[in-house]
Amino acid sequence: MKDQPSPVLYDTNGLCLEEIVAPLLAWYRQSARILPWRENTDPYRVWVSEIMLQQTRVDTVVPYYERFMARLPSVQALAEVREEELLKLWEGLGYYSRARNLQKAARCICKESGGAFPGSYEQLCSLPGVGPYTAGAIASIAFGLPVPAVDGNVLRVLSRLTENPRDIAEPAVKKQMTAALAQVYPAGHCGDFTQSLMELGAVVCVPNGLPKCGSCPLRQLCRAFRHGTQTEYPVQTKKQPRRAEQKTVLLLCCGGRAAVRKRPQGGLLGGLWEFPCLDGALSAAEIAAWLEQQGAHAAHIERALSRKHIFTHVEWDMTAYRVSCPHAFQPDGGGLVWATPEQLADEIALPTAFRRFTRALGLPSPQAPEGQKIP
Ligand code: SF4
Repeated sequence: MKDQPSPVLYDTNGLCLEEIVAPLLAWYRQSARILPWRENTDPYRVWVSEIMLQQTRVDTVVPYYERFMARLPSVQALAEVREEELLKLWEGLGYYSRARNLQKAARCICKESGGAFPGSYEQLCSLPGVGPYTAGAIASIAFGLPVPAVDGNVLRVLSRLTENPRDIAEPAVKKQMTAALAQVYPAGHCGDFTQSLMELGAVVCVPNGLPKCGSCPLRQLCRAFRHGTQTEYPVQTKKQPRRAEQKTVLLLCCGGRAAVRKRPQGGLLGGLWEFPCLDGALSAAEIAAWLEQQGAHAAHIERALSRKHIFTHVEWDMTAYRVSCPHAFQPDGGGLVWATPEQLADEIALPTAFRRFTRALGLPSPQAPEGQKIP
């Protein structure tokens, strides 16, 4: 045991955290899933995978990751790619600021060190979009440093192991757990230890429902397993309910093209493409009035479909109307792009919230040779 025990992890029910290291490493080496970012631990590959995995399931990430690495295999390639193409590679993953921050950070790395990845925890933390968790993951997995990467998975595992009564949303709890883990990081196996904790949280000590204690290498040490209290941990304050907002999506069609525009910078999906989306649940008559304000009119307006889209703090109740326009109009300030089906498919990064309405456009098969150039 180390000299300076953590008050949380060493004194709670007497668990010595060091005891988890050997069984966890042995289990990980035997049971770890084969994942493309584990093929080699190049820091660029680890970094991209960790950013993609934030808020996103492994199954979803794998094909995105492989496509991303095939197109952008290096920091330099990421720094140089056009933002529009980068966002297209990210289309459907959500939280698009992650992609923009990746590129900002890649440009910093190229500018400041000619593309050589920074190798210290502090330098990693200074990169855009890289917080303590991601920096810890890169530092330990790619550089073998004894720096923990503590996310929700790890907090859950440690809370159950120790029957920690404190709310894991408290920054002090995360800090204490990070400090305690740092004391037991095994020299020469730091990357595997980080990944073993992540893996256990992802596939055994799962968040919803009962954890799979029967296949857990730590069950002999686990206080929650011993007392049958697994579902009482981690302690978490109830989240605020999401705010519901109604939106009307206009599927404006004209001559086999559809109108898209960029959303304002800042705010939800800031700067990304959308089918024109208006606040509120508008009627067909209100849509016609809106079109008139834009100096346009519709040959036909019909309700197409409704969908709900859930963000972290907000949910949108979206109703889409298909609007046939006799002319490809532009509102006063411009901003509409009348895109061909090919452009919608291949060039325009439409977030999932809007992409799901594409089929309801009823556009012809992508045959048109050219549309308006995408800015
Ligand atoms: Fe989680 Fe169960 Fe393992 Fe405890 S024994 S760490 S509750 S999976």
